[in-house]
Amino acid sequence: MGPAAAPRLGLLLLLLFLLFLLQGGAARDTPAPPDKIAVIGAGIGGTSAAYYLRQKFGKDVQIDVFEKGDVGGRLATLEMEGQEYEAGGSVIHPLNLHMKRFVKELGLSVTPGAGGLMGIYNGETFVFEESSWYVVNVLKILWQYGLQFLRMHMWVEDILDKFMRVYRYQAHEYAFSSVEGLLHALGGDEFTRLLNGTVLEALQKAGFSHKYLHDIVTPAMRVNYGQSANVNGFVGAVSLAGAESGLWSVEGGNKLVCSGLLSASGARLVPGAVTAVEGRTRSGPTGGAPPSYRVAYETAGGPASALYSLVVVAAPLDRRMANISFVNFSPPVPEFHRHYHQTVATFVRGRLNASLFGRAASGRFPLTEILTTDGPDLFINSVGAVAPVSGKGAAPAGTAGTPSAVWKVFSQEPLSEEQRDLLFASYDAVRERRWLAYPHYRPPEKCPPVVLHDRVYYLSGIEWAASAMEMSAIAAHNAALLAYHRWYGNTEMIDQEGLYEKLRTEL
Ligand SMILES: Cc1cc2nc3c(=O)[nH]c(=O)nc-3n(C[C@H](O)[C@H](O)[C@H](O)COP(=O)(O)OP(=O)(O)OC[C@H]3O[C@@H](n4cnc5c(N)ncnc54)[C@H](O)[C@@H]3O)c2cc1C
Repeated sequence: MGPAAAPRLGLLLLLLFLLFLLQGGAARDTPAPPDKIAVIGAGIGGTSAAYYLRQKFGKDVQIDVFEKGDVGGRLATLEMEGQEYEAGGSVIHPLNLHMKRFVKELGLSVTPGAGGLMGIYNGETFVFEESSWYVVNVLKILWQYGLQFLRMHMWVEDILDKFMRVYRYQAHEYAFSSVEGLLHALGGDEFTRLLNGTVLEALQKAGFSHKYLHDIVTPAMRVNYGQSANVNGFVGAVSLAGAESGLWSVEGGNKLVCSGLLSASGARLVPGAVTAVEGRTRSGPTGGAPPSYRVAYETAGGPASALYSLVVVAAPLDRRMANISFVNFSPPVPEFHRHYHQTVATFVRGRLNASLFGRAASGRFPLTEILTTDGPDLFINSVGAVAPVSGKGAAPAGTAGTPSAVWKVFSQEPLSEEQRDLLFASYDAVRERRWLAYPHYRPPEKCPPVVLHDRVYYLSGIEWAASAMEMSAIAAHNAALLAYHRWYGNTEMIDQEGLYEKLRTEL
């Protein structure tokens, strides 16, 4: 080393020392992580929240997940004659990247969605019917609807492309404090318009014919959301994406993702119904210590309560669902009087009554899925042959005259015996599961807040944009990131405008 290098080395050491001091100072100011976090609900929202909260806040925080029913929530199977069938959320889109990642990390296997032929019935006749010949299908589609199928595919793809930005934002750890803000960051004013109008209006404006909307779009809304094409445009697009190919589900049942995430998160499951969350202000030695929350719950052994520094509510705050009171909050946590839609899933092992659909009872009836248009006399939204969650493969063909299949019927009201006798030529087993399944959509949609209080977060508000497993997982990741950034004061990671451009130029 020459004589001139010595002062430079001294300067470098001084700079390193200053940097060390600065970092030490910053570390001293960093708040300690929360000691206890409560997650209310062990559906896909709550269990993925536990998983992401663990990733963000580290191994030492205690995470308690409260569940009043079964782990999985609306991901549930129903047992029929020794076999389990998906009774709630059943199919997953190939571009649902959170669900894909969970399945991979948890070492679960996937099963492709059932194949088979689909028909759309209007109460009198089939307005559209698939053929097993590909060329025949193409010709039928072109003859009946021109290029509208292709245009619809492009419309959905365009929305999906923008929606996929969420994965990049979340990979860079950006968070949003409202559902509307998140959607706007993904698709700008176009997504805001979708949320505020019906899918019918959006597609009419895009030039789709009345016949196409009635024959194709409405049945997709009825089978996926039990409602008409008056649902908001965003959930409408999600529903139409659900009609695309490549859908899959989890071998053994989708609910396995929830139990897997719960155990991967190292969270503690607390069986019990949370009845209240009470806001409390702790007075620390320097006065204003952060608030804490008392979570009161009912267990089989009686009432209990515990204190938490952070609470994530992952269950719809509807009186008929989560039914949780928020006590001692200023400003008060608003009440959500929004209505969830009843959908009944009835499983029937038997043979469809072909003559109800205008076919000869003895003739061949190759359809394995029947969707319906809006019609006063239609008492079902759909009926489709299903396979059990384990060892499935293709759903059994429900051809009249062949051995019977298990059919899943979706309807708004429970099927009466008379209706079952009308729908099936014969049957020997029936099971039913009633759901408050998803929001009753009525745009313009105002989504409930994500931040209910300083450190209380709410996931299920995203369902008012669209209810789906992946949406709950996105909301869970967002809530974990938001909770983390707000805890540590990383305001630059929250509600950033122009993220798409920013991240594009960073690449
Ligand atoms: C019939 C049906 C078909 C569907 N089909 C699909 C599909 O094909 N694809 C798709 O992606 N989505 C589908 N969905 C939607 C999807 O299932 C839901 O969007 C998703 O499962 C919601 O998950 P979550 O965790 O947000 O809510 P939930 O699954 O409802 O979880 C909330 C949990 O909180 C618990 N809980 C409530 N209140 C309390 C309390 N006070 N204390 C403690 N615990 C409480 C509940 O018991 C529940 O387990 C379908 C839903 C239904 C009902």
